[in-house]
Amino acid sequence: MELYELNLWMLIEGLKAGKFTPSEIFTSCKKRIDQCEENIHAFITRTDDNPQPGSNPDGIFSGIPTVLKDNLCTTGIRTTAASKILGNWKPPYDATAWKYLKDAGAVLMGKVNMDEFAMGNTCGNSAFGPTHNPNDISRVPGGSSGGSAAAVSAGYVPFSLGSDTGGSIRQPASFCGVYGLKPTYGMVSRYGLISYGSSLDQIGPFARTIRDLQLVMSVIARHDPMDSSCFREKNPDFTHHEDVSLKGKRVALVKEFQDFTLDAPISKAMNRTCSVLEAEGAVLTEVSLPVVARYAVACYYALAMSEAHTNLERYDGVRLGYTVKDAAGVKEMFEAVRSYGFGSEVKSRIIAGTCLTEPSRCDEYYVAATKVRTLIAQEFARAFGEADFILQPVTPSLPGKIGEVDEDEMKGYETDLYTLPVNLAGLPGLSFFTGYSGELPVGLQLIGPRWSDPALLDAGTVLERQLGSPRIANGGVK
Ligand code: GLN
Repeated sequence: MELYELNLWMLIEGLKAGKFTPSEIFTSCKKRIDQCEENIHAFITRTDDNPQPGSNPDGIFSGIPTVLKDNLCTTGIRTTAASKILGNWKPPYDATAWKYLKDAGAVLMGKVNMDEFAMGNTCGNSAFGPTHNPNDISRVPGGSSGGSAAAVSAGYVPFSLGSDTGGSIRQPASFCGVYGLKPTYGMVSRYGLISYGSSLDQIGPFARTIRDLQLVMSVIARHDPMDSSCFREKNPDFTHHEDVSLKGKRVALVKEFQDFTLDAPISKAMNRTCSVLEAEGAVLTEVSLPVVARYAVACYYALAMSEAHTNLERYDGVRLGYTVKDAAGVKEMFEAVRSYGFGSEVKSRIIAGTCLTEPSRCDEYYVAATKVRTLIAQEFARAFGEADFILQPVTPSLPGKIGEVDEDEMKGYETDLYTLPVNLAGLPGLSFFTGYSGELPVGLQLIGPRWSDPALLDAGTVLERQLGSPRIANGGVK
């Protein structure tokens, strides 16, 4: 077995026992990257020629390689959000989540691909070209954190960080066959995360086992005075427990979702997971989320686009990134910078967000969406009075082919139905592996009430025990 194939906890234990050295791990991961990267194209910027060492040789992640989604700021290392508008921008500071990992000794191998400004679900809206799914390189890895999921799935690194505004950790995790956690809103500091929809954005980890997710959460889920939305109580306990049980836990399916069509491998995975849960002593129930089923997609996109249009105002060619020096005037400069710098999906969302918040329409659209959001949060709160967890798909189908475009753009937005309500209500959501359909992994999602992240991962341990862990994808290597 090569070192790159070992999971995070195995690497930590092996290092402690002196079975191998950090430099052997580094060499093995780098070799794996060199072997597959031509097929996968997960990186925007590689730093493994000049690795950024973690600052703590005694830290829990000392010598452990990782990669970060390219919307997480890294001091002196290009951070693009996969957009031309940030060009060669090198942030003067680290995102807190990365700082905590670096302080624990983690080694940065590079910054990875995403949909521009995290808008999308294929990793194809990137100014740097698409990333390929390591399980089948003709298919998308999902998005927007496609590079982070692909890197873990292909064995480049044992874990990575991404961000999730409406599904961007959970969906690529399920498409690539790894575990991904979208933590409770406020659980992980977002200082240094390039904003998309600030009331929805959350940073979280990808890994090949639940235990590894727990290790990463134990390092990054800490209070940060630089993010006022970050929790202030004592640090949550993400200790891994082998002997956890779901006996007596109520796991609910969503009544309204039963009417929606799922592709066969997904509904098969749902049935199988329900049997496993019952065999483990969990009680299957049903909750009703009518507002979620009917309005969540419209509500999410109204809010996300409104927030994006405000957040992206700062890219004016004056303060950050790409600029045009020979424009006739200020207005012409803004126009030139933004016309060239943003891709078409970002532009259309900025325009939509401008319309949704324009004073004469604001009440009818943006304000109305904030009210619907409150109803959605209340609906979930009621549901969690009747259930401990909710089980549902991540997406209605498996990953499509790269470059396949649906004529109906709304369809792409609608496939986020199962993921984005979690962000609207600020809940934690776990994307877990259930098995393979041919070469392709099939993931599902478990959702818990706010701040239940440790319990959610314990439930994940039970599921992993019964359903098995994913293998490392072949990365297009014969
Ligand atoms: N697909 C959703 C969107 O484009 C979610 C993206 C995300 O979570 N960043 O908004």
